[in-house]
Amino acid sequence: MAVTSLSKSRFLAGLQCHRQLWWKVHEPNAPELVVDVKQQHVFDQGHEVGEKARTFVPGGTLIDLPFDRKRDRLEATERALLGGAPVVYEGSFQGGGVYGAVDILERKGKRFDLIEVKSSTKVKEEHIPDAAVQVYAARQAGLDVERVEIMHLNRDCVYPDLGNLFTREDVTRTVEAHIPRLPGEISAQLAMLEGPLPEVTPGEQCSKPHPCPFWNRCWTEKPEFHISTLYYGTWKAKQLEAQGVTSLLDMPADASLTPVQARQIRSVRSGRPIVEPSLRGALERIESPTAFLDFETISPAIPVWRGCRPWDRIPVQFSCDMVHDNGASEHYEWIAEGAEDPRPEMARRVLEACAKARTVIAYNSPFERDCLRMLAIGAPDLKDELTALEAKLFDALPLVREHVYHPRFAGSFGLKSVYPALMEKNEYESLAIADGELASVRLSTLLFAPETIPTEERAALREDLRRYCALDTQGLAEMIDRLREMAGIGIHYGQLELWSGPLGQAAVFISPRGPSMRNQSTRRVTNMTAASRTKRPIEPTSSASSSLVSTT
Ligand code: SF4
Repeated sequence: MAVTSLSKSRFLAGLQCHRQLWWKVHEPNAPELVVDVKQQHVFDQGHEVGEKARTFVPGGTLIDLPFDRKRDRLEATERALLGGAPVVYEGSFQGGGVYGAVDILERKGKRFDLIEVKSSTKVKEEHIPDAAVQVYAARQAGLDVERVEIMHLNRDCVYPDLGNLFTREDVTRTVEAHIPRLPGEISAQLAMLEGPLPEVTPGEQCSKPHPCPFWNRCWTEKPEFHISTLYYGTWKAKQLEAQGVTSLLDMPADASLTPVQARQIRSVRSGRPIVEPSLRGALERIESPTAFLDFETISPAIPVWRGCRPWDRIPVQFSCDMVHDNGASEHYEWIAEGAEDPRPEMARRVLEACAKARTVIAYNSPFERDCLRMLAIGAPDLKDELTALEAKLFDALPLVREHVYHPRFAGSFGLKSVYPALMEKNEYESLAIADGELASVRLSTLLFAPETIPTEERAALREDLRRYCALDTQGLAEMIDRLREMAGIGIHYGQLELWSGPLGQAAVFISPRGPSMRNQSTRRVTNMTAASRTKRPIEPTSSASSSLVSTT
């Protein structure tokens, strides 16, 4: 059956890529279109923002009907407008080949202001065609739209005063300038849908303004060391690809490279990790006792706790592995429970966990710094202690980035790239929750909508979250050990050097509980109960792995 009208969301998909739209229309049940828990969370936050926005333009009539009852929605909108409603929420219009629901319509005499609500904190480029197509449909349906606004969240808003939660920006001129392009684009999309799947070369449109759900259909896996994996070199890689260079292995000798990129090229060419001699000095800046710290955060669009702004990242879970001078270690962890502000309790527990540390190691520590500052906002009486803890932060990311490259990093220094390459294992693969975004979504649900999770699944979810956060700190602790091995300085616990040199002898560390290997130890953890965790003995670097390590 011929497609004669496009919903706003489909039109916008077509604006991003005709091929994407074709699949959305002709394969509406494609597995790629099933909404996952992360996307659902984004939608839920959007709905929450939309509902809140209505309270700032009060007294309206809500067209409260399912989106797929198009005819009923159109009729209900018409009734509300003819009835003189001063404001209409979710009013629907169809005209010019498109159909859409307008977030807020505000009557101004005989004309109307159209308000598109966005949960972002600024007007984005993609908001303009979004608003324009609604104005176009509404005008085609006979509505006299005078002014167009984007109503978005305001970062100046600080809980509990939500009086300035939104900012309304007049985008009438930009939208008006866009409207003349719409009839041609709508016709082109409708005509395209009558034909076969269009050929489109994958490119920037696959991730902008939104990641395309059909990515895996269009992008074939690139060979190892593809030029696109050049570290921080998107533009340079594009230029080189245009010149026919598709592999890092073929990097021209005269290419201008940053020191990290140059190390990357040396590493992939040699097939070995590169360890700069400077790694040793960098590692020696770490003072023992050492804490390894990681936070998980939630990020509510509408702030709910004192001192928070829209989309602030607020720590609600942490993991800390405290390694003492004698090598003994303790694991601490905590997850908030319930909708109460967890920061005062959490701040106290973080300080307690890190109390004896002289260095607090985190991977990408600006994130942990921000978390400590957010804790200080929620627990002002502990601000001085938290500031002192912040001063002890040591970022392990530049430690790797500036001194080490492993061919399997694939141009990324994220922990999930670095850890498997350096440790030659990937424990994240076995986790039910293995990325921070999913952890954040699940934490949000656990705190604010626990009733949506069956009781018997809640404990399992908490365990999944616990395992994920704990692996980040335990994995980091192991990784620092590994870097010490690679730098040939062994591991020092206070004055006790256990091992030295990449080809040194294995040494068994006598922990307070006797000889033990970390990877065999049983770690018993309860909230804030320091559970004894022993260091593994340092294994002799195998000839295979030692031959992989080269220093320059
Ligand atoms: S992956 Fe890219 S080319 Fe393929 S459908 Fe999506 S946007 Fe279009």
